[in-house]
Amino acid sequence: MGKPKIVILGGGYGGLIASRKLEKMLKNGEAEVTLVNKHEYHYIATQLHKTGAGTAADDKITMNIPDLLKTNKVTFKKATVESVDCEKRQVGLQNGEKLSYDYLLIALGFDVNTFGIPGIEEHAFKIKSFKTTKAIYHHIIKQFDAYKEDKDPSRLTFAVAGAGFTGVELVGELIEAIPALCKKFDVPVEKTRIVNIEASPSVLPGFDKEAIDFTTKFVKKNGVELMTSTKILEYNAISIKLDNGSEVPSRTLIWSGGVRGNVILESLGLPLNRGRIEVDQYLRVAGTENIYCIGDAAYFKKNETSSLPPTAQVAIQQAETCAPNLVAAIRGEAQKAFEYHHKGTVASIGTMAAVGKVFGFKISGLFAAFMKQVIEARYLFVLGGPSLVLKQFAKTSKPYH
Ligand code: FAD
Ligand code: NAD
Repeated sequence: MGKPKIVILGGGYGGLIASRKLEKMLKNGEAEVTLVNKHEYHYIATQLHKTGAGTAADDKITMNIPDLLKTNKVTFKKATVESVDCEKRQVGLQNGEKLSYDYLLIALGFDVNTFGIPGIEEHAFKIKSFKTTKAIYHHIIKQFDAYKEDKDPSRLTFAVAGAGFTGVELVGELIEAIPALCKKFDVPVEKTRIVNIEASPSVLPGFDKEAIDFTTKFVKKNGVELMTSTKILEYNAISIKLDNGSEVPSRTLIWSGGVRGNVILESLGLPLNRGRIEVDQYLRVAGTENIYCIGDAAYFKKNETSSLPPTAQVAIQQAETCAPNLVAAIRGEAQKAFEYHHKGTVASIGTMAAVGKVFGFKISGLFAAFMKQVIEARYLFVLGGPSLVLKQFAKTSKPYH
C-alpha cells in the first residue's frame, strides 16, 4: 500500500494551523499531505475590517502560503474546490482536476448570511475574503472622487448593517479612515455620515453591559449615527429601506449582518446542521471515519440547541486537536475528543479603543486595544513562531491614506 493521502481544503485559520501541526508531527515520508486554497495567500480574517476601511496595508493582512509552510511534508495547491465524492474519495477542483484522498479535512470557512433580504446579495458589500473586502475600500475612494463632480450627498453616507462584532470593528475603522479621506480629497468632514443600523436594541447583542455602554458612547461621541432596534428591509444601491418606514440614501452599504458556513458545503452531500457540517467529538463528520471538519464550516454541538461560535479562536483550537487525530488515524491509534477552552473576546473600535473580556476580566479603552494587538501577535506566533511575528511587525508599508 502507498503512503496515506491527507487532503486539507481551505488555508484559513483552521486549515493552516492544522497543516503546520502536521508538518511538526508527521515523520518524513509517513503521509502525503496537500493543502488546497483558492488563493496563493492566507488572509488574516480577523483584520479584514481594516482592509475595508483602508487602515492597514495589504502585506500586513495577507501572507504567502508556501512561505508559511516550513517543510516538504505539506504540498500547497492553489485551486478552487468544487465538489467532494465521498464514495470515490476524490475532491473535484474547478480546473477539472481530481484529487484522491484517504483522509479529508474540510476547513472551508464562512460565507456572509444575507437572509434573502432583497437587494443585499446584488448591491451590498461583504466582509468575506481579502478580495471582497478590498472592493469596499476601492468603492469608498470612488465615492469621494465622484462627489467632487456631482455633490450627491448619498456618496458620502457610509452605512454599516449590523452592530455585532464585525459591524462595530468596521465602524471603528471608518471613524479613523473617513476624516483622513476628507483631507485627501479636500471634502469637509461635516459632509460625511457613518450610519450603523442594528436590528437588536443595542450594539454587540448579548455581550457585557459595560462593553455595550462603552461602545455606544464611543461611536456616538465620534459622530456615528447609531440606529438600534432598526431592521434593514431592502437595498437598491442608492437607498436603504428600514422597518420604521424611513429610508437612508446611501451608495455604500457594508453588510455585516451575520455569517453562515461556506455555501459550497451544501453541495458536498454531507450532513448539515444550520448550514454547517455536523461533527462528532473527534471532529469527524457524523457517520464517517475518514472525513474531518473544523472552524466556521463545522457544527460542533455545545449542547442540544447550540453550537460553538464561528470564531478564529475555535478554528485554531480545533486544528490543534484535529491534526493529532489525523496522525492517530494513520497510525491506528485512539482519537482524542475536542475540548474548547474559551480564553476571551476583544473587539476593536479603531486603533485606540476596544472592549472585551479576557480570562474573565472585563476590559475597555486603550488597554483593551493593546490586548487586541497581543492576541493578533499570538496568532502569528502560533502560525510561524517569533520570526513571523517580527517579520509582520517589521513591515513598514503604510495604509492608503
Ligand atoms: P476561514 O478563515 O474563512 O478560511 C477559509 C479558507 O478557505 C480561506 O482561505 C478561503 O479562501 C478558502 N476557501 C473558501 N472556499 C474555497 C474553495 N471553494 N476552494 C478553495 N479554497 C476555498 N474571530 C475571533 O476569534 N476573534 C476575532 O477577533 C475575530 N475578528 C473577526 C473580524 C472580522 C472582520 C471577521 C469577518 C471575522 C472575525 N472573526 C474573529 C471570525 C474569524 O475570522 C473566523 O471564525 C475564522 O476566519 C474561521 O476560520 P476558518 O479557518 O474556519 O475559515
Ligand atoms: P453577528 O451575527 O454576531 O452580528 C450580526 C448583527 O447584525 C446582529 O447583531 C444582528 O442583529 C444584525 N442584523 C442582522 N440582520 C439585520 C438587519 N436586517 N438589519 C439590521 N441589523 C441586522 O455577526 P458578525 O458580527 O459578523 O460575527 C460573526 C462571528 O464572527 C461571530 O461569532 C463573532 O463572534 C465573530 N467575530 C468576532 C470578532 C472578535 O472577537 N473581535 C470580530 C468579528 C467577528
